[in-house]
Amino acid sequence: MRFPFALTAKIAKYIIGQKIRGKDKFATVLQLEPLHTCNLTCTGCGRIREYSTSLKDLMSLDDCLGAARECGAPMVSICGGEPLIYPQIEALSNGLLNDQKRVVYLCTNAMFMRRKMRAYLAREFSKTPEAVEGIIGKLQEAGVASDKDAAEIRKGPKDASAPVMEPHDFFYWNVHLDGLEYTHDLIVEREGVFKEAILAIRMAKILGYQVATNTTIYKETDMREVEGMLDFLSDFNVDGHTISPGYEYDAAKKDMVVRLGLRGEDFFLTREGTREKFQKLAEWSEKYTILGTPIYHDFLAGKRELECSAWAIPTRNIAGWRGPCYFMAGAGHFPTYQDMLQQVDWSKFGVEPYSGKPKDPRCENCMTQCGFEPSGALSSRLDDSWRNLVYNFGPRPKGTGRGKEVHAYNGVTSGRGHLTGAQVAKPAASPAAHAVAEPASIAA
Ligand code: SF4
Ligand code: SF4
Repeated sequence: MRFPFALTAKIAKYIIGQKIRGKDKFATVLQLEPLHTCNLTCTGCGRIREYSTSLKDLMSLDDCLGAARECGAPMVSICGGEPLIYPQIEALSNGLLNDQKRVVYLCTNAMFMRRKMRAYLAREFSKTPEAVEGIIGKLQEAGVASDKDAAEIRKGPKDASAPVMEPHDFFYWNVHLDGLEYTHDLIVEREGVFKEAILAIRMAKILGYQVATNTTIYKETDMREVEGMLDFLSDFNVDGHTISPGYEYDAAKKDMVVRLGLRGEDFFLTREGTREKFQKLAEWSEKYTILGTPIYHDFLAGKRELECSAWAIPTRNIAGWRGPCYFMAGAGHFPTYQDMLQQVDWSKFGVEPYSGKPKDPRCENCMTQCGFEPSGALSSRLDDSWRNLVYNFGPRPKGTGRGKEVHAYNGVTSGRGHLTGAQVAKPAASPAAHAVAEPASIAA
């Protein structure tokens, strides 16, 4: 199956249950931001800029778990900031998985993933040292653990009673990857992040974790490179990919102007630009395990219209429930999810489906997953429901086996700015260094 049966069935059962109860607005995925602190400063990130005054503030563990209970969403995406910096991330993740039986996506830039997995192995070593010795051997053979890492694991846990992040049927590492090495390191504004992310993904797959990736598409994104990245990742048996258009955060645009001397319109996509970029998404979903629904994929490619259902993917952070959506707090923050549902005037957000006129100027170019993916998943049209069923319960693509043809490690960058910028030392002297192997369909 494309996605694990238990997981897909759990979510389908929840949605059907809500519809039978006659609820017209309910949460499907909670975007939980326990903190906004991050170890990176990615160019297009609105989060670390918009909440830059509260980077030291954290939600308490009780508040985080309470938010999930309150909205009832079967899936929780723990994001931020970088959630692995959150001091109680293990207790939070385990509480959601084991006590509340949620599906958990932990969105990470992967810089601390291997450390967390070593902590899990150290705990296992104290219980079954021989089995873990075998795993250490595999990790070292794959080049994802050093002698120092192996010694650290063999020391056992610092605190045997401390929770760890272990593989679980309903747990996914969701790794941020915006392209191959050159592009990704440019966008995250730090060298070495791509290499570390790939090491972490490979280690996670050896240890039996489920791994997804999330990729944001910008105006300058070369979709052939993204296709190459998916080929590369399919060799590691990555379990799913989210690909969505970037949202033009005001705070990120201002930061570009001030810090990088760039214009936001050169970086973020218009609706028309999004449709052009996503033309091949339906074709890709036959080859790669693309998360989402075929209805949303059609919307991104401009084959149909959808209305915004931002209430289905609510965001909770230190300031409260962010209305109307993850991307903008145009309606403010609310103390409870129910308050947000009742007090936001939902008719004022999104885009008129037929005229394409934005109901709010900040919605004009938005085709993001948080707004429109649930509209595809919750569609009451019978043909849509059937397509969603066939897609989600259908066979998993086998992978293209073309990862080795991709020049994934195509050169690091100066670590500041992005491709639109003049500041970036583009690899002009050796253009082959950041070329992506042409997929056969393009090369032919
Ligand atoms: S890793 Fe995520 S939270 Fe951190 S700066 Fe980048 S996009 Fe923002
Ligand atoms: S269209 Fe986009 S920005 Fe506007 S409310 Fe919906 S998700 Fe938010």
